[in-house]
Amino acid sequence: MPTPSESPLDRLDRPLRKLRISVTDRCNLRCGYCMPEEEYKWLPRSAILSFEEITTLVDAFTRLGVHEVRLTGGEPLLRRDLPVLVRMLAAHPALDDLALTTNAVGLAAEAAFLREAGLGRLTISLDTLRSERYRALTRRDALEQALAGIEAASRAGFEGIKLNTVVLRGENDDELAELLDFARDGGHELRFIEYMDVGGATRWSREAVLPREEILARIEAAFGPVHEVDAERRGSAPAQRYALQDGTRFGVIASTTQPFCGACDRARLTADGHFFTCLYAREGLDLATPLRAGAGAQDVAELLRARWSGRSDRGAEERLGMEGRGRLADAQELARDPHLEMHTRGG
Ligand code: SAM
Ligand code: SF4
Ligand code: SF4
Repeated sequence: MPTPSESPLDRLDRPLRKLRISVTDRCNLRCGYCMPEEEYKWLPRSAILSFEEITTLVDAFTRLGVHEVRLTGGEPLLRRDLPVLVRMLAAHPALDDLALTTNAVGLAAEAAFLREAGLGRLTISLDTLRSERYRALTRRDALEQALAGIEAASRAGFEGIKLNTVVLRGENDDELAELLDFARDGGHELRFIEYMDVGGATRWSREAVLPREEILARIEAAFGPVHEVDAERRGSAPAQRYALQDGTRFGVIASTTQPFCGACDRARLTADGHFFTCLYAREGLDLATPLRAGAGAQDVAELLRARWSGRSDRGAEERLGMEGRGRLADAQELARDPHLEMHTRGG
């Protein structure tokens, strides 16, 4: 681990601890809150980082204090040979947490290989348990595959699987209790996520957001009183955790109405090697060009240090105060700069 003097703080005194890596911008679903358009412009294949390049960049990040890595996308399971990358990263001595966020559609075939390669934790996105609704929300008919993926992950030995549900008013907000029952029965922890106005969410509106209080009210209506747990241990974790009367835990990620930028210690890396210091940041730092020109992990670490030391992002908090808050970018702007897309920068 780097010493505190090697590990930079940003301008708001936040360290860099966590990294999300998008391993592909492609996806096999078209969730309406993430990829609602008909056409997408993909990153050129030649620009996509190789596993060796990703590993070198991760090494650079660990020199600044990163010790948790989450693989994401697009849909990360679409990246061929993902377990090979998992094995390479799991071997890094400075990483003590290696996780994956997936829609689980391709997980049945991969779960055991990922586990065996050293993947520690899984987060699975699931917004409904109804086939018709799944098709409407994702524009693909894949609920059965996703459910089979979740089962396979349990069988493969993954424990503490988290299920993420983006709550959309009028679309799945009548299903919160069923989803929580499903998670409880499977031994998983469900987290409800407020709909965010990130790049890609071109249909976002304030009215479609179900704020945390309303989410909790619906859970209480179905299960009785809930109470907050582990508040003192929350740290920089985005989810506030709650317990039902029977002890079942669940979380709420109130990123839209109660953002947590003050404790944000995470950065993002796109599949083509652009480093972003905030989910809402307009400008990234291209790490692929220096890497492909011969820079090593220590050279990249110096670039990262300079960028992190100058960081003052608090995107979600700034948007909270905006008059007439609306979508971050329209479809034309996103087509001009796919790096603004949630599916490119990894959520
Ligand atoms: N495809 C994988 C998946 O869906 O789990 C990984 C990538 S996806 C971009 C990562 C996370 O971002 C998912 O949990 C998804 O629900 C979330 N997400 C995408 N758009 C969102 C939005 N507008 N508001 C809230 N969460 C969003
Ligand atoms: Fe849905 Fe994830 Fe694909 Fe976005 S990247 S469309 S959230 S499955
Ligand atoms: Fe961190 Fe930016 Fe999200 Fe705030 S909006 S929590 S600074 S990534």
